[in-house]
Amino acid sequence: MIVAIDGPSGAGKSTVAKAVARELGFSCLDTGAMYRAVAWRAVQDGVPFDDDEALGAIARTQEIAFTHQPGEPLPSGVSIGGADVTAAIRTAEIDRAVSPVSAAPSVRAALLDQQRRIGRAGDYVVEGRDIGTTVFPEAEVKVFLTASDEERAHRRVRQNVDRGIGSIDYDEVLADLRARDERDSSRAASPLRPADDAVMLDSTGRFIEDIIDEICGMARDAAARSSR
Ligand code: C5P
Repeated sequence: MIVAIDGPSGAGKSTVAKAVARELGFSCLDTGAMYRAVAWRAVQDGVPFDDDEALGAIARTQEIAFTHQPGEPLPSGVSIGGADVTAAIRTAEIDRAVSPVSAAPSVRAALLDQQRRIGRAGDYVVEGRDIGTTVFPEAEVKVFLTASDEERAHRRVRQNVDRGIGSIDYDEVLADLRARDERDSSRAASPLRPADDAVMLDSTGRFIEDIIDEICGMARDAAARSSR
């Protein structure tokens, strides 16, 4: 089964996706980390963000791998071409680079193939921007998770404080997040938008545990329907 969780940055997708996967005994795929890894490589190599061919070559040839702590089923790290980029992909520089890089059609085509291959190998919670619309339009559960801009910015600042990386200036984080939403929603290739059959969940002012329970309930209902 595929549980697709899409939505703008800072809506709580990663936290929710991991908790739902844990609860259901599924694996978890963070597609944003894959785009970030390609953006990191592009920055390292000085590849211009409008060079579709060169960006696509990175996505096709540099292996992206998710790494696990021993005994831990869900991944906690990511590498590209053998370099561990778990922390390096969460900086403000990569926050800014990832939108133009992820708008490159050949990057999307390469990562789409990889995401489908990974997800079809088992039961997955997959989080991103275009999972319910493009990557897994046949997903049994589709959620579009949102929250107000202000709440998303507050959460991102707290996350950056906890991780010790990224900006902790609220106004800067809010402006960056809005700019990224705007670019992600207005690009030609797989823009950020809810699938027609996605369930819209607004996490503003709600306990994250309630959202997690609600999605787990949807997945259990879908499993019961398909076994009938
Ligand atoms: O989810 P996260 O904020 O880590 O995603 C980083 C960026 O990767 C997004 O802003 C978007 O530009 C891109 N992305 C995408 N399609 C996905 C997942 C992420 O374009 N499925």
